[in-house]
Amino acid sequence: MKTITVFRGDGIGPEITDAVIEILNHAKADLDYEIFDVGEAVFNKCQEYIPQQALDSFQKNKVLLKSPITTPIGKGFRSLNVTLRTKYDLWANIRPAKSNPALDTYFKDIDIVTFRENTEDLYVGKEEVIDDNTIIAYKIITKKASSRIIKAAFEYCVKHNRKKLTCVHKANILKKTDGLFLEIFKDIAKEYPQIQSNSLIVDNTCMQLVMNPWQFDVMVMPNLYGDIISDLTSGLIGGLGLLPSCNKGDEYAMYEAVHGSAPDIAGKGIANPSALLLSACMMLDDLGQINVAQNIRNALNEVFLEKKVLTPDLKGHSTTQEFVQEIIKKL
Ligand code: NAD
Repeated sequence: MKTITVFRGDGIGPEITDAVIEILNHAKADLDYEIFDVGEAVFNKCQEYIPQQALDSFQKNKVLLKSPITTPIGKGFRSLNVTLRTKYDLWANIRPAKSNPALDTYFKDIDIVTFRENTEDLYVGKEEVIDDNTIIAYKIITKKASSRIIKAAFEYCVKHNRKKLTCVHKANILKKTDGLFLEIFKDIAKEYPQIQSNSLIVDNTCMQLVMNPWQFDVMVMPNLYGDIISDLTSGLIGGLGLLPSCNKGDEYAMYEAVHGSAPDIAGKGIANPSALLLSACMMLDDLGQINVAQNIRNALNEVFLEKKVLTPDLKGHSTTQEFVQEIIKKL
């Protein structure tokens, strides 16, 4: 049995975490859980957003299932998500956006995997006030971080029989930083002649994604573009409530939904737990519990297909709990 660490998060975090653990238990996942409250509620009690015990647990177990955490805006406060990714060197953020044929979406048959560099770019969060009128932010791009994410994306293509890798950048303007990322991409591409490779400027990529998303297969890009493009790909498959992700480094792995803490619907009992559930399935795959993951995906698909019990973001009228019970019935 594998012991994993779980952070319940803020906003809708606790609701969707409890929902996912209930489903994992019914699916007989071979897991034991060390569960921690993190975020604003904890800070108000003990002046720490993530208690040391919770970090110690992750350091021991090396696998974290994490719910979204709220980041207060503009208070000199670094995002806890970014802090976790940096502290544990979770350098690859992998976000697979795959259409579910059962869902009623504008676009069908989407299957795009985004590889987002996860440790640098503007996310180093280094800003400097020059004078009353001017503030600058540092965009850091290194050879080391760029090479490893690009290589990982090519290796993923080989392992999963994907045909094409697109590098997204803005090297026409950011000639040195994004220029370096693009140059490394072109160099590494030579080692993978069997994978079709191309590059696209990020603004054009956004347009292409809504005009003809089927041209894309796997994409790799620096941190900020990865954040934006993967929200866009989540829109293509039906919204943020559906997109899972995993953040991986050499030693640690953290699985989380792409969406945030959704303060607008927190506490209403209507959040869609699917993105966190599918993230848990990615985790089960990586832990070798592939059958359990597949059973959960099948049950979820059946519920989607029947369209009787869906949360409001999927144009349904059901609560999170009703949705969860329906998945459990299918299991
Ligand atoms: P958000 O992703 O929380 O919400 C955007 C919209 O999508 C909202 O209308 C919300 O109701 C909806 N939505 C998101 N998840 C949903 C779900 N599971 N079911 C149904 N609807 C869902 O983005 P935001 O409002 O910009 O951010 C809120 C907070 O979350 C901010 O503090 C932000 O910093 C934080 N955040 C955290 C993470 C993370 O922990 N990884 C990621 C993104 C944002």
